[in-house]
Amino acid sequence: MTALFSQLYVEEQKILVFGDGPTNARIAMIGEAPGAEETLQGRPFVGKAGKQLDEFLEMTGLERKAIYITNVVKFRPTKRSESGRLSNRPPTGEEVKLFLPWLVQELELVKPKIIVTLGNVPLKALMGKQWTIGQAHGQWLTWEKKPLYPLYHPASLIYNRSLKDVYEGDVRRLAQSIGEKIYG
Ligand code: URA
Repeated sequence: MTALFSQLYVEEQKILVFGDGPTNARIAMIGEAPGAEETLQGRPFVGKAGKQLDEFLEMTGLERKAIYITNVVKFRPTKRSESGRLSNRPPTGEEVKLFLPWLVQELELVKPKIIVTLGNVPLKALMGKQWTIGQAHGQWLTWEKKPLYPLYHPASLIYNRSLKDVYEGDVRRLAQSIGEKIYG
């Protein structure tokens, strides 16, 4: 255990939320980090962002239970306001670096045929910092010889409704090409 990990774990009582889904899934979806609801339930994407994700899965006709869903960072990154209220914050580069080997190992174990990243954090973690979701969304890329499809994070739709049409287009293209990517 690294010093950063034990410090976060002990001082902030970080609760780890692991990946969820079949360990032989053909599709892996990777988010950023769990939020409050995910931490309570111990499963990724079960809060507001998860509802958006479920809507998108319905559009593609994919079954959530057939997908392996995980996050880059396995605990909820939080900040405390002056009044003492706890809220989410994006994970730091150091936190991403800490968890990246775990994610890579998860992907090596599950061996998905395709990877879908949700938002900037998993895209940058796997492909490199030069990538941004604004440029890369909706295009097939390759990570370790596997097809990787970057989507905006479902939570970004909650805050930016103007992304809805772009997102729907990206999801439709994913749905159209998924069979060919999985079965060749
Ligand atoms: N956002 C994420 O990136 N992951 C979750 O598990 C929940 C919200």
